[in-house]
Amino acid sequence: MPPERLILPRRIIAATHNQGKLAELMDLLVPLGCEVESAHALGLAEPAETEASFIGNAALKARAAARASGRWALADDSGLEVMALGGQPGVLSARWAGPQRDFDLAMRRVADSLERIADAQRSARFVCALALAGPADEMHVFEGEVAGEIVWPPRGKLGFGYDPIFQPLGHQLSFGEMTPEAKHAMSHRAKAFAKLVDTLG
Ligand code: IMP
Repeated sequence: MPPERLILPRRIIAATHNQGKLAELMDLLVPLGCEVESAHALGLAEPAETEASFIGNAALKARAAARASGRWALADDSGLEVMALGGQPGVLSARWAGPQRDFDLAMRRVADSLERIADAQRSARFVCALALAGPADEMHVFEGEVAGEIVWPPRGKLGFGYDPIFQPLGHQLSFGEMTPEAKHAMSHRAKAFAKLVDTLG
């Protein structure tokens, strides 16, 4: 059987309350002709991320927004996995920033945790799961990742979250020092999105 083709809905809810992610999802969706509204702007509740995987949490967020609105919703669940920390902070990446969403604190926690391990390797990766959910409980999921290493101290003020301490393999700039265009050319989010685009009919 040929793979199922996906028709991209013209109006999509970006099921996120994170401004950094919203900006990046808009950068990806708007050139495809989509009108994007955020779950935050629509006042939709932010569900608890109770799953142990990026795909599980992305699906949970997309399904909640699609059911609450009766429309198509795209959710992103993503995070930083540091190999020497057994993949932490992983699905807890947002929670490492505490209730104030303080990413200076979260980046320092990563650096301090690595500091406590003798000769720790600095390899890491960003992972992104995208889930597109429909009003009739349709569900499509896509995953992308980008390999790199943790740098310290943080470098650059662009991007969001852990971008200033992540340098992708083969590059001299951290994500925090890259323009949005340069980050989109290689990011975990862009790679997951490229898989979504590949399934469009
Ligand atoms: P969640 O998907 O809402 O659980 O949050 C994921 C967290 O991972 C974000 O709040 C960021 O801290 C981090 N993260 C995910 N993608 C990126 C990225 O592209 N750059 C920097 N940090 C990211």
